[in-house]
Amino acid sequence: MSKPSDLTYDAVVIGAGHNGLAAATTLARQGKSVCVIESRDGIGGMARNAAIAPGVVAPKMAHLLYNLNPKTLKELGITAPKSVSLPTVSLADDGRHVVIQGDLVSYADGSAHPEAATFAALHKRLTKFAALLGQMSLKTPPSLAGGLMDMATLQELAGLAKLGIGLKRMGKKDMREFLRILLSNAYDLILDDFADAPLAGMLAADAVRGAYAGPRSPGTVFSMMYRLGNGGDVRLPMGGMGAVADTFANAAKLAGCDIRTGCGVAQVIVENDTARGVILADGSVINARSVLSSIGAFQTMQMAGVQHYDTEAVRRLRNLRNKGTVAKVNLVLSGAPDFVGLDAKLTAGRLLIATSATYVERAFNPVKYGDMSNAPVIEAVIPSLSDPSLCSDGQHILSANVQYVPYALAGGWTPAARQKLLKLTLDRLEVYAPGLGRLVTHSEVLTPLDIETQTGAPGGHWHHAEMGIDQILTLRPVNGMARYGFGIAGYYLCGASAHPGGDVMGTAGRNAARQLLKDGVLA
Ligand SMILES: Cc1cc2nc3c(=O)[nH]c(=O)nc-3n(C[C@H](O)[C@H](O)[C@H](O)COP(=O)(O)OP(=O)(O)OC[C@H]3O[C@@H](n4cnc5c(N)ncnc54)[C@H](O)[C@@H]3O)c2cc1C
Repeated sequence: MSKPSDLTYDAVVIGAGHNGLAAATTLARQGKSVCVIESRDGIGGMARNAAIAPGVVAPKMAHLLYNLNPKTLKELGITAPKSVSLPTVSLADDGRHVVIQGDLVSYADGSAHPEAATFAALHKRLTKFAALLGQMSLKTPPSLAGGLMDMATLQELAGLAKLGIGLKRMGKKDMREFLRILLSNAYDLILDDFADAPLAGMLAADAVRGAYAGPRSPGTVFSMMYRLGNGGDVRLPMGGMGAVADTFANAAKLAGCDIRTGCGVAQVIVENDTARGVILADGSVINARSVLSSIGAFQTMQMAGVQHYDTEAVRRLRNLRNKGTVAKVNLVLSGAPDFVGLDAKLTAGRLLIATSATYVERAFNPVKYGDMSNAPVIEAVIPSLSDPSLCSDGQHILSANVQYVPYALAGGWTPAARQKLLKLTLDRLEVYAPGLGRLVTHSEVLTPLDIETQTGAPGGHWHHAEMGIDQILTLRPVNGMARYGFGIAGYYLCGASAHPGGDVMGTAGRNAARQLLKDGVLA
């Protein structure tokens, strides 16, 4: 226990998702006293496990690691749980499923894919460009507020300049290409080189993972590269995503943080425009010299009181785009399903239903009108095939991210609407694994609305706020508030709605805490 004798912590962190825990650990490892407050009974937020049926533990929401940052882990003293690298299997209606791992592509039967060389070349090109953007993920976005005559601003600009230098080093041809594709849409880029088939579908689906955007939306090449810049490998954590969250919590405890669950923060105490602690839902007060919030950006502002913000900041935060489009469907199966044309190793892979780039775009269309797609993009994994510890008695868990599903369904999320979503998901899976439906003994459907209710994430959004080109880097969450400090002295944003965004990375939390220390708040 690190509770200081004068009952004032150096920092209170709102939310024990992995970013809140990363922020807390960063501060505690610098000798600061930290208390993490979590409204739910357990830690982990979107990255938690849940027992969804007797003897079955499922990754409740997030299931695969794409972007866990090794540098962040090292700094936090975290040894990530064992994980296995998974191939992606892009399922095909004609049974010629495509297997992708890193820059390699083949058919599921082992035969050569005609676009393998084209894919390897695109992968190389995008990874090179993405590495430049990746440099930015561990940095506080530069502030240009002081103007070009200001020394601090110039130092900040050095970060961007590095990107520029990197660009220059690329040579003219690559630089021109980088700038050409940067703001373009993934659909056009993909179909420039590939037939509109499952390989193109995989590329398109990954460009819009978790987003309120279709591959034809502008800026989706940027998000494609941005994801690659932060890693890009697909890994399944043993013990489920909850095991990853547990390692973050253990690191926080080891560093001396107090973690209190089961009662959330109702209000941030602000005195003289400075954050001074929090009031919990049960009325108890925790004093602190600083407060970090890992909940949504608008909610973070509300927690302190909108009266502390100018009208422009309130307007920007209110208009933040954060409509979730991903539902989670967890299925308990009485046995392993049989995907036609896949061997045991590939069945245990990341199974993607995105049969073409056009399929992905079409799946996006209905969500704009408050409807769910009849042919959704599905990313499914059966973690129990790689990790039997998750299920007993030969059961399996099929964990599926289903996109696109609206937050506000026209007509509302009635029991019938949920049933429809479940049926749509099962119908799509049955195309590739006939008989799968008969194996289902238990199901759980989490709509974006449920995700919001269960985690507080606005719109139930995967990243707490859309990762569009108007809401990333120096514009995340909004222009003028991208440097973690959140408008009030000692008040910081440290969750997925801060740079560099969501996914299980821990980087937003780590960056925010480091910036707080750099700003001298706890000096
Ligand atoms: C369906 C779905 C599937 C996903 N799949 C993946 C995936 O496979 N891989 C991946 O990398 N990412 C995935 N993501 C995204 C990823 O899970 C999130 O971006 C990431 O976990 C966000 O972490 P966080 O700590 O910033 O926020 P959260 O995990 O949302 O944590 C915020 C915490 O704050 C708590 N809280 C809220 N209000 C209060 C309050 N008033 N007081 C105290 N505590 C409060 C919440 O209970 C929660 O624990 C998925 C997201 C969703 C929704």
